[in-house]
Amino acid sequence: DLFGALFEGAAAKAVMTRTVPVLVPMPAPKPYSYAVPEGMAVEPGSVVQVPLGPRQVIGVVWDGGDEGGVDPKKLRPISRVFDCPPLAKEMRDFIDWVAAYTLSPPGLVARMALRVPAAFDPEPMVEGLRFAGGAPERLTPARVRVMEMAKDGLSWTRSGLAHAAGVSTSVIDGLITQGIFETVFLPPPPLVAKPDPDYAASRLEGPQREAADEILAEVRKQEFAVSLIDGVTGSGKTEVYFEAIAETLKRGKQVLILLPEIALTASFLERFQDRFGAKPAEWHSDLAPRTREKVWRQAVTGEVRVVAGARSALFLPFEDLGLIIVDEEHDPAYKQEDRVYYNARDMAVVRGRIGDFPVVLVSATPSVESQVNGQSGRYSTIHLPTRFGDAAMPDLHLVDMRRHAPYRGGFLSPLLIRAIGKTVEKGQQSLLFLNRRGYAPLTLCRVCGHRFQCPQCSSWLVEHRFRGQLQCHQCGYAERTPEACPECGTLDHLVACGPGVERIAEEVERHFPDARTIVLSSDIMGGVKRLRLELDAIAKGEADIVIGTQLVAKGHNFPLMTLVGIVDADLGLANGDPRAAERTFQLLSQVTGRAGRTGLKSHGLLQTYQPQHPVMQAIVSGDAGAFYEREISERERAVLPPFGRLASIIVSAETRQDAETHARGMRSAAPLVQGISVLGPAEAPLALVRGRHRFRLLVHGKRNSDMQGFLRAMLAQAPKERGSVHVQLDIDPQSF
Ligand code: ADP
Ligand code: ZN
Repeated sequence: DLFGALFEGAAAKAVMTRTVPVLVPMPAPKPYSYAVPEGMAVEPGSVVQVPLGPRQVIGVVWDGGDEGGVDPKKLRPISRVFDCPPLAKEMRDFIDWVAAYTLSPPGLVARMALRVPAAFDPEPMVEGLRFAGGAPERLTPARVRVMEMAKDGLSWTRSGLAHAAGVSTSVIDGLITQGIFETVFLPPPPLVAKPDPDYAASRLEGPQREAADEILAEVRKQEFAVSLIDGVTGSGKTEVYFEAIAETLKRGKQVLILLPEIALTASFLERFQDRFGAKPAEWHSDLAPRTREKVWRQAVTGEVRVVAGARSALFLPFEDLGLIIVDEEHDPAYKQEDRVYYNARDMAVVRGRIGDFPVVLVSATPSVESQVNGQSGRYSTIHLPTRFGDAAMPDLHLVDMRRHAPYRGGFLSPLLIRAIGKTVEKGQQSLLFLNRRGYAPLTLCRVCGHRFQCPQCSSWLVEHRFRGQLQCHQCGYAERTPEACPECGTLDHLVACGPGVERIAEEVERHFPDARTIVLSSDIMGGVKRLRLELDAIAKGEADIVIGTQLVAKGHNFPLMTLVGIVDADLGLANGDPRAAERTFQLLSQVTGRAGRTGLKSHGLLQTYQPQHPVMQAIVSGDAGAFYEREISERERAVLPPFGRLASIIVSAETRQDAETHARGMRSAAPLVQGISVLGPAEAPLALVRGRHRFRLLVHGKRNSDMQGFLRAMLAQAPKERGSVHVQLDIDPQSF
């Protein structure tokens, strides 16, 4: 109502006194000042609505006094305060810390904690009913059943009572009309039931018991400490950290479990339910908006006790978080490379330190960073070197492709084909792993040599034969696969170069036309839902041969899987990144670890052209220790992370020249600081993405150098971003 609003505004202006800083979810470098209208109660952490330009936005009352200088009368007033718990001090400190560390505007970091604006209003109450006294006019058997259920005076929803009494809702309606029931309002139902720490505890013995005891000792102290559970695939790490979760729940604290591919880990949720009698709440980008709101709100109110989520769950403002588990801590999916570049594994540790609670990192192949922290005593490492029960690790062999060439036109060596054949005969499952979506990574014309490239990116177009498309995996650009070469016009002379999973499936079907094959990649039609169904089907034995990308590498338990074939074990090694060996080792360990989880004898065959490569040797010998020692000493020698510090500065622009000029300008703005040097600019590894040209500067510093201080000084001196120029900082980049 216009007049109401006018007068309210006027009244507020007349008596305004106090001002507070409010952080709004925008790329603003600091909070803005707002006036607090008389009678409005706000404190640091209050979630408020404030005017910003012509809009109303959500913000959080921030810490620190106002800087003053502005006449409070000139400031705009806070429009309203939301009726939800304030963002805890812990969370505000965490946001400030992440912003300072990643050199991001705090507003952008806060935005991750305020992602669900609709969640701030309290959930509406649900209409229900309650026995009001008296007796029905006529007692039918159905009415007797309803009265039986309701006579204790507890509240029900209409349909809940009908269901419980086994009657139709019309029976209930009849009783309402007679005044037997009164209407009441019930709090909204919880999203998930409360997990019960004693529901079905596993018996732990031997090394598992010892591991659990070590973790429990940390959890009971309820203070900041980081434990690293380093145990082979199938060693029972999950059972061990379930103990830590149970203990935390008993102490009345909330738990966050971070998982790299939460959308795909339906089996994890079920396993959690088997142990705790209820599922954890899920948090990931595939949630329906309504569910997101609910999870957010119920994490804030404390209704939800355990959240299993993707990296962004780290920014949920829990009411009283007491433990974070980071499963598969080495996984690159923990790195967000969008707006605020952060590694959720590292930031989980920070959150634990600020909140003073324990953090547990879990992996079969811990990152070099975490291993070094273990060696230095910063983290306490807990080893589980063998598989649980009678399951043995698969027997792994290298297939030297220089000697065992594939059949003409194929990519699978006769050795691997034979092994698949035997596995199919035994009624067991094979997994063929190739970390490449689509049919072929490169298409070219046999007549003129034309290569199909993305018009907006420096990458080849990948053929997806099933969809009849050529796609760019950088930007999503797609076109129909043409019949003629666009350059020379020759018909039917396009050739596919190299394999993707679709092509391997074609080859497999040629050899085993009667076997049931499934191709699993993120291209699957029907999205996450369909993927979950397929994974379920595989676990139930409804497929003989699975051909998949890294989607199948993660966490799944396929009881009948006894053969893993790695189509191209060298694939990840080629890119020249110092982390390539580590990553390849981790991925191959994880994939081969899918085999033999239930005591059946199992094998792995790794096709490689470099059988002497340390990664291949480490995989087949099972000697991860020696491999890591080498990796660690190489990093130390080259002063690379974690023995040195790195930051990458990506400068992009619509023209190559603008990007390069700006990058050079930044370089010359770098201060002279002992122990820190700037490399580049050079074309970024992906020189063109979505039509933007990219140049990269790498900043390298000794271990204790003040990287953030250096970068701040550099940015302060650098030319302003103008036109299409954009500068993105990436502290601790994934590749370097
Ligand atoms: P990881 O997480 O190390 O890969 P899991 O925790 O998944 O290993 O354990 C591997 C298998 O062994 C699972 O099927 C799990 O149910 C089973 N398992 C592990 N520990 C126990 C235990 N203490 N009692 C019963 N089964 C267990
Ligand atoms: Zn592209």
